Amino acid sequence: MNNFGLDIWSNKNFVIEDGQIKLNYKSMPSLLQIVEDIRSDNVRGPILLRFPHLIKRQIKTLYSYFDKAIQNNDYKGSFNAVFPLKVNQFPFAIEAVTSEGAKFNYGLEAGSKAELILAMSKTPAGANITVNGFKDKEMITLGFIAAQSGHNITLIIEGLGELKTIVEVAQESSLKVPNIGIRIRLHSTGSGTWAKSGGMDAKFGLTSTEIIEAIALLRKASLLNSLSMIHFHIGSQMSDIAPLKKALREAGNIYAELRMMGATELNSINIGGGLAVEYDQHTHSKARNYSIDEFSSSVVFLLGEIMDAKNVKHPNIFTESGRFIVASHAVLITPVLELFTQDYQEKLLRFKSKNPPLIEELIELNELLNNTNCIEYLHDALDHMESLLTLFDLGYIDLQDRSNAEILVHNIIKKALYLKSSNPTDELEQLQVKLQERYLINASVFQSLPDYWGLNQHFPVMPLHHLNTIPLRAASLWDITCDSDGEIGFNPDKPLYLHDVNLDEEDYFLGFFNVGAYQETLGMNHNLFTHPNEYTIEIDENSYKIKNAVESKNILDILDSLGYDIDIVSNRLKNDLSCSDFITKKEKNDTLAKLELFLKQNGYLRTTN
Ligand SMILES: *Cc1c(COP(=O)(O)O)cnc(C)c1O
Repeated sequence: MNNFGLDIWSNKNFVIEDGQIKLNYKSMPSLLQIVEDIRSDNVRGPILLRFPHLIKRQIKTLYSYFDKAIQNNDYKGSFNAVFPLKVNQFPFAIEAVTSEGAKFNYGLEAGSKAELILAMSKTPAGANITVNGFKDKEMITLGFIAAQSGHNITLIIEGLGELKTIVEVAQESSLKVPNIGIRIRLHSTGSGTWAKSGGMDAKFGLTSTEIIEAIALLRKASLLNSLSMIHFHIGSQMSDIAPLKKALREAGNIYAELRMMGATELNSINIGGGLAVEYDQHTHSKARNYSIDEFSSSVVFLLGEIMDAKNVKHPNIFTESGRFIVASHAVLITPVLELFTQDYQEKLLRFKSKNPPLIEELIELNELLNNTNCIEYLHDALDHMESLLTLFDLGYIDLQDRSNAEILVHNIIKKALYLKSSNPTDELEQLQVKLQERYLINASVFQSLPDYWGLNQHFPVMPLHHLNTIPLRAASLWDITCDSDGEIGFNPDKPLYLHDVNLDEEDYFLGFFNVGAYQETLGMNHNLFTHPNEYTIEIDENSYKIKNAVESKNILDILDSLGYDIDIVSNRLKNDLSCSDFITKKEKNDTLAKLELFLKQNGYLRTTN
């Protein structure tokens, strides 16, 4: 049975039951049920669902694996984690992070002034704040203000200039000095699409010469005892663990050297983020070659080993994994608005009491096609089709026969494609591309899956229902932007099959999974489609609650955010309409009311789907 790779990407967060995908948690609601609940309130268009229990699960997982590794390795340092805000700054994601985080002393990481302000207002009391990224004097002063306000904050410097500014601020004020961290410029590089953060040519970090200089500078300013952390980040979505191990050796040795050089308060190594999430739906192309178990044991074991060899105190370990914490918590649900080639449905077959012999044969082929005979039957069908077309040209069969033949042959090809989908022949692959169905989805790839557009990042996608039925249509997905890049094409190497549904009779919904990391803030308002309606779903033993509704921006608000005067816009529209000729006053008023309503809705399509 096609389970859309659920066992690969879902980490047991979802299960298929009764033909639907359900949350594998407590009362186990189905996604379809939740979506129908929301839509019963006249909500249309794409919906983003947040599941806070999945964020909590990841936080617990992260801490428990590191705790286990620390015990197993008799490691003497502590484990600490912060959530990097750039991965998802939306309030109801952060609320889940900080409410669960408070139990673990889980802090926040900031990479800009705005994120630092957010971190200062949201970090659970006593938890850590780390600050990365380029900083000016104002941002550094903000770090001092955070320390003065009681935050456990570490400013991680990206260059010597920042360190000089820290010394300056410390000398100019009596504010509490924050902890200082040094980002090291790794000799080794990461792996994965985003591995631009490490290496000698990296954008960030201090070289060994600069580190030595930094120590001298701190010593001279009597701030060496504020140096508490060294940091590296080898890039997001590490596909392979080997580069991390190299980086750990490098960082571990730098740490040991600095301790021996007199940095006696240096007590932590921050290994950044990068812990990968599995997005793939096919076994042959999995995105990572390690588990959280291996990741945590490797980090703890290696650091212990390096320190023991140099007889240096075990450092506290910090991680800044973000993608791993929040990717799974958000699901984007998109209604399908249209299937573009629905003309070959079996129900459109209209047989005669006596069909031409070749049609009878096609009927039989269609019925008896199976895994062992399908290539042979497919060839027979293609052959018959050729003959039937010739017979039609010669006037021996009529248009109804021809239509029946086309539907039957299409169906035979579809079945053969599916039966051989794990091992298609060249011929089948060509047929597959020709016969794919285009599903129009009520969403914008640019807004909701920007990494697909920008980085070709695949996100797991599957229907929410019909999961008892084998999907037979090779599918490509089109979004509703009028941009040809807003398409998720059919990839014969990683095929997606969807169901043949009649949208006049029923809705068909697709879910895009693991969209909780990076997509929301990176999303762009191309064609002025904004963030979809979002909801937080809290599941308990008996049922679930739909909370924290945030509606998609309405059309006037979108124009307002671009800087248009929306009064001028709406008055112009209303005046133009009012001044036009209507036969009845009623129609005029009704039309004006309609216009008013349209301006107050979001820009997604509101057909019955
Ligand atoms: C982006 C970033 C992270 C988060 O990386 P993930 O791959 O999401 O875990 C952590 N630390 C720093 C410094 C970053 O720039």
